[in-house]
Amino acid sequence: MQFEDLGLIPPILRALNDQNYKSPTTIQEKSIPLILKGEDILGNAQTGTGKTAAFAVPIIQHLVGEGHNPNGKRTISSLVITPTRELAIQIGESFTAYAKYTHVKNTVIFGGVSQGAQTNALKRGVDVLIATPGRLLDLMDQGYVSLRDVEYFVLDEADRMLDMGFIPQVKRIVRATPRREDRQTLLFSGTFTQDIINLSEQWTYEPIT
Ligand code: AMP
Repeated sequence: MQFEDLGLIPPILRALNDQNYKSPTTIQEKSIPLILKGEDILGNAQTGTGKTAAFAVPIIQHLVGEGHNPNGKRTISSLVITPTRELAIQIGESFTAYAKYTHVKNTVIFGGVSQGAQTNALKRGVDVLIATPGRLLDLMDQGYVSLRDVEYFVLDEADRMLDMGFIPQVKRIVRATPRREDRQTLLFSGTFTQDIINLSEQWTYEPIT
């Protein structure tokens, strides 16, 4: 299987080639065609399996296909929630790399640093927001972030978010996005315990595992 066989558009294939990715990993091969078709996904994958590209690449392709005016005001069409600052930064770097030949723009927000640079980026407008739960809620409460236009919603490392006690915050975030029938939700977790299965049943719509 090659990336060309997954139905990806030339600007993304070129960016993947620049990364020296020769062929898709298992999670990429399985997820990318389903995400391109608009399905909700429960992905069983840990860090190191290539799961970031498995969700980032089809989301970028969806956003390119929607043909947003590159000069118009951007709204947050895609939200990625992840438990740690390190993961958020890595995911942001991945989106930047895979979207380098497109107009799709991302920004990353996380706690532990002053918020000025993050709120300035939000004011300029982004298509993809990557965030840790606490800082996201903080900026939502201050009115810097609206999630009402989110079409593509990624819950990354759901098991770690549970272990780190983030579920009440994540629930508030999910409630601020459109109804699950009106967004595409991609939930990734290294384990699928009963707790994760229960949450995924609330948050996704007819998902494919
Ligand atoms: P992740 O699991 O998303 O954290 O990715 C782990 C590492 O694998 C990252 O350094 C990616 O750049 C790399 N990677 C992702 N997809 C591929 C691929 N298809 N071929 C080679 N490396 C990849």
